[in-house]
Amino acid sequence: MKVIGHKNQIFYFEKVIKEDNFLSAYIFSGQEGVGKLEILKFVLMKYVCASKRGCGECNMCRRFKKITIPDINFILPDKISENLSELYEKGEWSIDNLRTDYFSREMVIGINTIRKIEGELATRPIELKRKFYIFLDADLMNREAQNAFLKILEEPPKFVTYFLITPYPDSLHITIRSRCIEIPFFSLKFEEFKEYFKYTKNIYFLYRFSKGSIGIAKKIIESKLEEEYGNLLRELARNKESEYFVYRKLDREYLKDKIFLLGFFIKEITELKMGRDKILKDHPFRNEIEFLNKRIDPYTLDLLYDKYYKILEGYKRNIPSFTLLYLFDSLRFGVP
Ligand SMILES: [Zn+2]
Repeated sequence: MKVIGHKNQIFYFEKVIKEDNFLSAYIFSGQEGVGKLEILKFVLMKYVCASKRGCGECNMCRRFKKITIPDINFILPDKISENLSELYEKGEWSIDNLRTDYFSREMVIGINTIRKIEGELATRPIELKRKFYIFLDADLMNREAQNAFLKILEEPPKFVTYFLITPYPDSLHITIRSRCIEIPFFSLKFEEFKEYFKYTKNIYFLYRFSKGSIGIAKKIIESKLEEEYGNLLRELARNKESEYFVYRKLDREYLKDKIFLLGFFIKEITELKMGRDKILKDHPFRNEIEFLNKRIDPYTLDLLYDKYYKILEGYKRNIPSFTLLYLFDSLRFGVP
């Protein structure tokens, strides 16, 4: 298993493994796709490995990868864990298929999941020295679930360790947070990022576009979001009514992409206004962005930002999609 960056976090857990002194609860925080789950997988595989190296070949490593060690429990959103048998059948139940981006999919970890964990706390670990409960999207716990979790966190058996992975630690109850050790994950440095994507062109652009997150960068490549960004810039540059912002589907994922692109566009223009021409270096849409930068004065940039902020807030507060699309729609007369 290859991991990039996050040397301090790895160093810390290597020491923990050596001395076998896991604490009862950790929060892994940091933006989506930054490598929180990757590092945890790397650390836990070392812990279970017969040689303590995380060889990937020994019986324990192989079972870890297939998620068949009973003391290692991954806590998924209710909807997903209800259909685990489907994942088994499709052969998709493995460590490599775990994801941590259910947040946008309106999923929940409810109280029954926490009660189930509570019921298991009386029994000691079966194979390992401790039991692990790993919440892949801890922020999905609803209020009831968080209250119940807080109770079991108050009197943790010595042999239990929780890992709460989340890009949104603020959505966890303050008392939960105070009982956990928070391990923050920061965006990768450009050098580290480059090491991973050796053969990709426009690598500096991709680094900025994904905020230094390998997970997001992979998604950008898969979903061709870069091309979509080009479309957005070309439409904005056309200075007349276009079809780009006319909504095609009332889908939250679709909206999320649009908001992401608009936010990145505003960031780029702001950077150029501040004289950071370095961003043009390997920019795939250099002509368009330079043209738009000339046309947008600081006042217009303000208006754009205002609109972006309204859309973003509306999205977070679950305002109906068509209202947000109406706001987007008003952009289609070119940049104001
Ligand atoms: Zn091994």
